[in-house]
Amino acid sequence: MEVDQLQNAIKDLDLVEKLKFIANEFDGKIVFTTSFGVEDQVVTDLIFANDIDIKVVTLDTGRLFEETYKVFNFTIEKYKKSIKTYYPDTKSIENLVSQKGPYSFYESIENRKECCNIRKVEPLQRALKGMKCWVTGIRAEQSNGRTKMEMIEEDHGYGLLKINPLFDWTLDEVMNYLKGKNVPYNSLHHKGFLSIGCEPCTRAIQPGQDFRSGRWWWENNSGKECGLHTHGN
Ligand code: SF4
Repeated sequence: MEVDQLQNAIKDLDLVEKLKFIANEFDGKIVFTTSFGVEDQVVTDLIFANDIDIKVVTLDTGRLFEETYKVFNFTIEKYKKSIKTYYPDTKSIENLVSQKGPYSFYESIENRKECCNIRKVEPLQRALKGMKCWVTGIRAEQSNGRTKMEMIEEDHGYGLLKINPLFDWTLDEVMNYLKGKNVPYNSLHHKGFLSIGCEPCTRAIQPGQDFRSGRWWWENNSGKECGLHTHGN
């Protein structure tokens, strides 16, 4: 089904029904990638609480916050469901750390992208292999580059359809949903961390700052992206 046809078919359905329709349409070839941010926790709840047939996976870079692992654990305990976890390729990460040490990403943008490629992008490629549809927790207001996004987009880079169920949600709507449904979320959220990635590369932001300004804060002009999404990760 083409993007337009799909959009038309689901336009009058509520969000859960939309996801069920899309899951049915892509029949086992649909995956949701979570990094346990607040938006991802909403999507996880939509999928798990409603038994929607969408595979939930995560990428463990090996450098995540302790608080993130706790959310991971609370989540699988709450829903009694498993989350398939992808790790970096052993040889690549051994070579990187052996040759450049554990903090090479602070030395140059090139080194930072090398680390992101090994720890995130290549595992993501494995997670998306054979899939036709990729569900994300991205919202349009999360950064300037994301304001033009739609719920259903074509991802030409990965050659699949991307579904962004929360594309038009505000942060308040996300938080109200989580609190209303008692969904676990990252305790760092209340300490100024609005976009939470790897621990050495994420810091808290001040009120009013761009959502992603706490990521790779030592870089000025890299676009603050790690290569996972056209719009960001
Ligand atoms: Fe490496 Fe930092 Fe990228 Fe994580 S965010 S993969 S630690 S460079």
